[in-house]
Amino acid sequence: MDLHERLLIQVSVRDVYDATALAGHPRSGLVFTGQAGHDAIRMVRRAGYDGPLLADRRRYAGSARVRGTARLSADWIADQVEAGATAPLTDSGYISKGDHKALNSILDQSLHWEGAIAVLPVHARWVTNDRATLLRTIADYGSPVALVIEDGPPHRPLPFPLLSTGIAALGALAYGADWAAIGVREVLRHLYPEPHETQGGWRRGGARSAFVPDRLEFVPVERLGDGTCACSTCQGRPLRHLTESDELHVNTHNAKVLHVLHNRLLRSTHREHWWHSLTATTT
Ligand SMILES: [Zn+2]
Repeated sequence: MDLHERLLIQVSVRDVYDATALAGHPRSGLVFTGQAGHDAIRMVRRAGYDGPLLADRRRYAGSARVRGTARLSADWIADQVEAGATAPLTDSGYISKGDHKALNSILDQSLHWEGAIAVLPVHARWVTNDRATLLRTIADYGSPVALVIEDGPPHRPLPFPLLSTGIAALGALAYGADWAAIGVREVLRHLYPEPHETQGGWRRGGARSAFVPDRLEFVPVERLGDGTCACSTCQGRPLRHLTESDELHVNTHNAKVLHVLHNRLLRSTHREHWWHSLTATTT
């Protein structure tokens, strides 16, 4: 069991009872989000799930997020290993624009744990203007990393694993990232700049959003158009039928259509070209 070429589904700890239904595909897996992530891993392992499992503590998000210079927790690493995580993730804080000290602090501390993946939650400037510095610093340390990229302008994909993202996960995989995780709901597909305005509360903010392959985006079920879907959940019905469905049903559709795209990516002879032709038709 490894993470190689995996498209993971990032869920909340409270999704633990349904999560494996979304990650039964080959080359899938789960990321549990929150400080009880290791408990969720233990439960799912006990229930017999044998795919890759990660835990993202997500201390880098929200209005009370911590800075990347914060001390990383050895207990958090040990808890994940003990619970059966495929690889432990660091409980990193946020790396703001130009905060080299935070970037170095996380990479420095990560060296203490063999096999730990250094989570680097970065301001968007790090993947645009300061991209070369980020790449060089990661290469200098040489340890495995996973990026979380704060909302910002479009940028070329980087060849690193991604947490908490949307369709950009496939872009990262196309550019050589080992794995990437698509969030199961809007808040888990973004790292919002702080402070940010919540747009109408969590429910209206896309608790149920369906992935529409033609548009290559997640659309709140209330705004779905006329198109039909051939996945085994929708069975040729109009996507709009998801308006009446519960969140698990919608997310099962999402996992299936994303799995199809992921398979196409893995079979393509030139993955970067595949990604560019896919995104060129929708933007
Ligand atoms: Zn469907």
